[in-house]
Amino acid sequence: MYIKKQRLLTPGPTPLYPPALHAMMRADMHHRTEDFRKVYRACLADLKEVMGTSNDVLMFAASGTGAMDGAVSNLFSKGDKVIVCVAGKFGERWAEIAKAYGLDANVITVPYGQVVKPEQVEAALLAEPATKGVFVQASETSTGAVHDVEAMGRAIAKTGAIFVVDAITGLGTMPLDIDGWGLDVVIGGSQKAFMVPPGLAFLSVSPKAWKLGETSNLPHYYFNLKKEKKSGDAGESSWTPATAMILALGEALVYVKQIGMADLIKNAQMLAQATRAAAGKLGLELFSAASPGSSVTAIKAPAGMDSGVIVKEFRTRFGSIIANGQGTMKGQIFRIAHLGYFDFADLFAMIACLEIILNANGHTVPYGTGVAAAQEVYAQAAVKK
Ligand SMILES: *Cc1c(COP(=O)(O)O)cnc(C)c1O
Repeated sequence: MYIKKQRLLTPGPTPLYPPALHAMMRADMHHRTEDFRKVYRACLADLKEVMGTSNDVLMFAASGTGAMDGAVSNLFSKGDKVIVCVAGKFGERWAEIAKAYGLDANVITVPYGQVVKPEQVEAALLAEPATKGVFVQASETSTGAVHDVEAMGRAIAKTGAIFVVDAITGLGTMPLDIDGWGLDVVIGGSQKAFMVPPGLAFLSVSPKAWKLGETSNLPHYYFNLKKEKKSGDAGESSWTPATAMILALGEALVYVKQIGMADLIKNAQMLAQATRAAAGKLGLELFSAASPGSSVTAIKAPAGMDSGVIVKEFRTRFGSIIANGQGTMKGQIFRIAHLGYFDFADLFAMIACLEIILNANGHTVPYGTGVAAAQEVYAQAAVKK
């Protein structure tokens, strides 16, 4: 029997920033007091700062999907023509939400592992000038692929449609110039690069999006963007906030600001690069080879090996939780996360564990092959900070 530390190494929830966890213990606080308003105001202001936008930023007590739901129900109207980009399980979620609210969705679907091209969105916009909105994932966590939201945003900005971006794993892992690229709604979640537990969803809303929302006729109650904006301006949330979570996020945002969003992104990018190098040396293929992102790397299990075996052995041998594929990708791929509170030591250990698991299951690789490749990336980047 060896000691096995439990490590949460999935692309949400992600490893927790310890001072943020400690901050949760200050939650014996009433939310309609100046003490709490101070915390809440700072949280919203810091979110806006790290997202780098002049748009309004609102927050809800919900997982990320709550903000996706609220964006649709507050901004659109029944029968609105929209374009939904589907490149994985989270794109499918956009399509399901659009359907649930009776939008008239043109769903552009590409096979898992690929991405919707900006030209496809442009062509769909040209074909239907009455389009009111375009939905996409900046980073499609289920496949590890990233969309070119810059090119999409520039094309959409020229039209009457608003661009609604699920950046739940995009924020903190890829540059997102919200104002410059015309990203009208950008959605984030606490349990991804923000290093705290699940429970908070937030979104930025542009003037163009607010304008569209003025004519919205879809039913909504809890997720009320206008009401939340008014409350936020007064330093409060509309309903009882998730006080402990907000204290945690506030603490984590201080840390994110200290690192700087650019370096937080760089951190994820370096880890992703090192992971891809290791996978290559271990004879493993990337699932999204054409457009791999930095929030998570999806790797195909070796031929004849179920990826569930790798996931299971990470847990049973090393106490570590990594992600399997979702839906039909289950058993085919495993996913190594890089977003948020991940560092090189986490990654080197993960790759060393992976080498042991591969060897134990018939995919023979000399020990250290993948680790050395990752170390090489680290050394060449001369990461000293
Ligand atoms: C995690 C995630 C979500 C949100 O899922 P929740 O379970 O509601 O937090 C949405 N989109 C993407 C791309 C995600 O990675």
